[in-house]
Amino acid sequence: MIDSALLGLPEFEPGSVWLVGAGPGDPGLLSALALHALARADVVAYDALVDPRIFCLARPGAALEYAGKRGGRPSASQPDISLRLIRLAQAGKRVLRLKGGDPCVFGRGGEEALALAGAGIPFRIVPGITAGIGGLAYAGIPVTHRDTNSAVTFLTGHDSDGAVPGGLDWNAIARGAPVLVLYMASRHLSKIAERLLAAGRRTDEPMAIISKATTPEQSVLVSTLGEIAAAAPDVRAPAIVVIGEVVRLRTALDWIGALGSNPA
Ligand code: SAH
Repeated sequence: MIDSALLGLPEFEPGSVWLVGAGPGDPGLLSALALHALARADVVAYDALVDPRIFCLARPGAALEYAGKRGGRPSASQPDISLRLIRLAQAGKRVLRLKGGDPCVFGRGGEEALALAGAGIPFRIVPGITAGIGGLAYAGIPVTHRDTNSAVTFLTGHDSDGAVPGGLDWNAIARGAPVLVLYMASRHLSKIAERLLAAGRRTDEPMAIISKATTPEQSVLVSTLGEIAAAAPDVRAPAIVVIGEVVRLRTALDWIGALGSNPA
């Protein structure tokens, strides 16, 4: 149990909603604020990517509600989820909205916060470790590295219809940051690699695909843009993809491999 008073953590007021990032998997990556909120919440409304091991940290008696949009279970619409959060808060509950990674990185945290603000519900945003940074670290790949890249681009590999994002300017993306981190990209890997090559990126540019990052089932595939464009590998979801020279650092920095075990 953390000493919330010593850390000066805020009260979780009844009738409020905390939008909390649960990190990519390993419960050790939860913040002190997330633990504090879990210990006090009346309702934990979680999404599909939250690691189930985290639920045992919730207050005994807290109601656990699935409020996600995938995972093979019936999915609520985004307006329904936002409305549910509002109703629970209006009923005087301490509502913990728990999301995988960071709530505001491709996680619709902004949309839910806007709905809460519109309804006059007090809320707080507790950032989490996003898969595109924490997942890379667990694969021994720093997201930036001196001499390699001073910029990084985070992008989603599919749009809301599930297609390769047509609205993205792939030429500009290819010329932009030396390191690209792709979320939700497993289904379109070859097409994305082709577009980046057509826009001038090199065929031998390294690329890593990290599946189930920071969990006991983490696996890492290292390849190149050219190989992935030629043949898409079978990827276990969820997977985060990183393209750029930083991937080569994994050879020296694969600390999990060096420990001889998978993460927690
Ligand atoms: N808010 C989340 C991202 C949600 S979008 C975050 O900040 O991490 C969902 C995508 O996140 C997945 O398709 C995948 O690309 C990535 N992702 C989330 N958790 C992951 C994990 N444990 N391992 C690999 N990728 C993950």
